[in-house]
Amino acid sequence: MLGAPGAGKGTQAERFARNRGVPKISTGDILREAVQAGTELGRTSKAIMDAGQLIGDDVMIAIVKERLARADASNGFVLDGFPRTVTQAVALDAMVKGGSPLVVVDIEVPEAALIERLTTRRICANCGWIAVPGLNAWARCGGPLVQRRDDNVEIVRERLRVYDRDTQPL
Ligand code: ADP
Repeated sequence: MLGAPGAGKGTQAERFARNRGVPKISTGDILREAVQAGTELGRTSKAIMDAGQLIGDDVMIAIVKERLARADASNGFVLDGFPRTVTQAVALDAMVKGGSPLVVVDIEVPEAALIERLTTRRICANCGWIAVPGLNAWARCGGPLVQRRDDNVEIVRERLRVYDRDTQPL
């Protein structure tokens, strides 16, 4: 799934994955879980994510390679948040060489809508449900709704700049 922050990659990836019975692999979720768990990956990634910058290609490529090698990904998978740079895309091509062709879905959303969505949405601290005002402003599991640390307006603008520079070329 390609698309700017806030385009809806995670939401659509979850539907695709559920309908096809394959895992959704979200690199953002993997990193946030590492931060939460306080692992070495989490400790080195936290400040970079909070600033809206990208984690290094080598680290991300190693994470995805390990994840795709697990049994549950052998019949397909939906990638959400990866690849995000041309280098990551080249590495992904090498990982899936010989398998079925990849399907790329690129979601385009006007920038003003992205900023509005990202700065007003809240995330359930328990289950990760994305609550959007006027759409579904409740928590699926009843957990507390919180703002993602990188969803404030300055960092959102930085994430969109990084997207234009590093991901748009894909
Ligand atoms: P969004 O697409 O809304 O910005 P994600 O949850 O996909 O959010 O990613 C959150 C943060 O995690 C990114 O801003 C970046 O710091 C890091 N990240 C996630 N995936 C990658 C990746 N493939 N390469 C580098 N950094 C990544």
